[in-house]
Amino acid sequence: MSRKKKKDLPLLEKVEITGVAAEGKAIARVGDKVVFVPFAAPGDVVDVKLTRSRRKFMEGRIQQIHKLSADRVEPFCVHFGICGGCRWQHLPYETQLELKQQQVVDNMTRIGKISTVQCAIRPIERSEKTTFYRNKLEFTFSEKRWLTKEEIDSKAEVKDMHALGFHVPGRFDKVMDVEKCWLQPEPSNAIRQWLKSYAISSGLSFFNLSTNEGFLRNLIIRNTLKGELMVVVVFGEDNPKVIKVLLESLHSHFPEIQSLFYVVNAKQNSSLSDLNPILAKGKPFLEELMGTLRFRIGPKSFFQTNAVQAHKLYEIALDFAGLTGKETVYDLYTGAGTIACFISSAADKVIGIEYIEEAVVHARENAALNNITNTTFIAGDMARVFNTELMDRCGRPHVIITDPPRAGMHPDVIGRIIESGADTIVYVSCNPATQARDIQLLSASYRPVVMQAVDMFPQTHHVENVVKLERIRN
Ligand code: SAH
Repeated sequence: MSRKKKKDLPLLEKVEITGVAAEGKAIARVGDKVVFVPFAAPGDVVDVKLTRSRRKFMEGRIQQIHKLSADRVEPFCVHFGICGGCRWQHLPYETQLELKQQQVVDNMTRIGKISTVQCAIRPIERSEKTTFYRNKLEFTFSEKRWLTKEEIDSKAEVKDMHALGFHVPGRFDKVMDVEKCWLQPEPSNAIRQWLKSYAISSGLSFFNLSTNEGFLRNLIIRNTLKGELMVVVVFGEDNPKVIKVLLESLHSHFPEIQSLFYVVNAKQNSSLSDLNPILAKGKPFLEELMGTLRFRIGPKSFFQTNAVQAHKLYEIALDFAGLTGKETVYDLYTGAGTIACFISSAADKVIGIEYIEEAVVHARENAALNNITNTTFIAGDMARVFNTELMDRCGRPHVIITDPPRAGMHPDVIGRIIESGADTIVYVSCNPATQARDIQLLSASYRPVVMQAVDMFPQTHHVENVVKLERIRN
């Protein structure tokens, strides 16, 4: 059967939204199919204009609302409905927490096949801050901003096409201009707005994402809980004189920027991983405090974006690890070594593994900064580096803490964990579906005994989950 064109797809009338799917989109059932409807809420009755129809599922957008869910709240951000950032603002925070908890439990029982009788499920750790909780945002300059449907329909002349904001979900070439973002504390918005108007009034060109040309390309703002600020301005072309004047002007307007970097990126992609940001003003690092530890944050360092909740997450991981001071612990996917450093005083030694070399360098620096002497960091791909030879050399693990990316762990890594004989595994994950899959793969040797989710990203569907598994002894 040929796929129908978008405009030929039907309108589904008076559909009742019944739940929320794993990726955070609301769902309804029509006949034997599931329909995904972004920005709807369970309890809404809406007409849905289909945008996609497949054999097993359909997707559409709200065309008309007949009944709004009693549970809805008014979204506080003007960009709600377009921005990919906070798609759950129309749901009260308590409902967001319930849905996240349910998502984690559903994944564990359906995919992970865990028994809720054997595994204690603790309530999700809530976030005190539900706005302005992020410590890093990256904005994109575009000479051609995304126009809303209303702007296009009004046929009025569009005066300003410049954008400094976020990519519209699924559109690499379209950038939504951000008026105010509720994710990062001030002066994040003030800096972005100032830079945008400075650039326009100075006649500087904004990036063209189709031709990859233009002067101003990206703006990265990072902050710490104490309020320290780092700004990285990314230029698409080198023009030392103009860059210098711009950075001096930015710094004189925002003297609270302790660390100001710039980088020229004339490549096809916007990744900074192979580029070296240049320090223009101030110090090269910020420092985040976590309990008694200090962590260095450079322009390219990886650090959890919600530091308050990251601290709670690490406390849970430490608690689940059940350390007495005698254990050899492996911290897989260690990033900049934060978990390894955090638990080091409770263990005999900690081995952290991570494939980004620069992150491993930061991990070693973090350990040194905190006078930690019982950590070893190794760079390399997990499936290759985490092997029997390494375990013979560094010691067999008593406890393995693992915090893989969204895709979860490679089956070979799961095999090595089983072979390692570790008594305890603490599995930290930002994707409960792949976490549940991996737990199922571990199930002949390890049994989950307790789990707890942590809300790191209020107003979004994202959830972090920590599971403690114990070795099954026959
Ligand atoms: N535990 C850290 C970071 C977790 S994010 C923290 O709490 O801050 C996951 C990390 O896994 C990233 O740093 C990523 O670079 C690393 N990673 C992803 N795939 C990997 C692989 N195949 N081998 C080793 N590390 C990998």
